[in-house]
Amino acid sequence: MSDNPYATPLSDLENYGDGSGIWIEKKLLVMRKKAVLPDRCYHCNADAQGNRLKQKLLWTPPLVVLSTLLFFVVPFLGELAFIAFTVLWLIAVLVFRKRHRIDYGICEKHLKQRRLLYAVAWCFLIASVVASLVSTVLHWHVGILVGTVLLLVGILFAIVTRLGRTITARKITADMVWLKGFGQEFRDVYPPLEK
Ligand SMILES: [Zn+2]
Repeated sequence: MSDNPYATPLSDLENYGDGSGIWIEKKLLVMRKKAVLPDRCYHCNADAQGNRLKQKLLWTPPLVVLSTLLFFVVPFLGELAFIAFTVLWLIAVLVFRKRHRIDYGICEKHLKQRRLLYAVAWCFLIASVVASLVSTVLHWHVGILVGTVLLLVGILFAIVTRLGRTITARKITADMVWLKGFGQEFRDVYPPLEK
């Protein structure tokens, strides 16, 4: 990542902003891990009326992700080098990967929309399983193809609508998180991180 979130010392941020511990940086929402997100929809900023979504976030530093590419080179250096690198790489992933749990508000409208999208995705999955099972029993080859197509369409649908990945972490440090996925109406409330 080119932008350096360490540019402003965290101690300088203590008294900066509106005191919520939440800021914006371009399209990202930056918040202290301890900060509590308000009872507003993460998408449209409407009153969430107590509806909350919980999500686990996982973030691996880009350098660790990039080091995965070395797996293409290391095997040429011999078996021992390969084993040593694999062990070091696994340790690096376990040590540097960061987790954080967030919960955020969602309005009735967006909650319904989300449930509808989940229902559609489940319909595709169930239809594909039924088509495959029935076709296998009846030795109907076209049905298996239909089942596979339904499954692929369902997976594509889930990817396009970003099902299950509403908010993603762009960076996690010891006490701050950089989050993607909050709507502009929600973000507009908070001050920018850069002075
Ligand atoms: Zn909403």
